[in-house]
Amino acid sequence: MTTPRPRSPLPPRAVDALLVDTTPWLSCDECFERMDVHVEAVLADPHHHDAAMEHHLLGCAACADEARSLLDLLRSGTA
Ligand SMILES: [Zn+2]
Repeated sequence: MTTPRPRSPLPPRAVDALLVDTTPWLSCDECFERMDVHVEAVLADPHHHDAAMEHHLLGCAACADEARSLLDLLRSGTA
């Protein structure tokens, strides 16, 4: 009887990538922590690119919503 290997959803390299700082995968907590900085950077430079944030915002409606209202707030607001 052989033991079936558990099938990992990610190749080892992708798992390693999760452990480095530049990982494109953020938790919502991390996303919220970076939200202010990200939104300000986007406002300062429309070409600002933050793969990690963008990736999370693409996949997370809650954070995308938050980012959008923060952008609106800063754009319309007092700066
Ligand atoms: Zn999120």
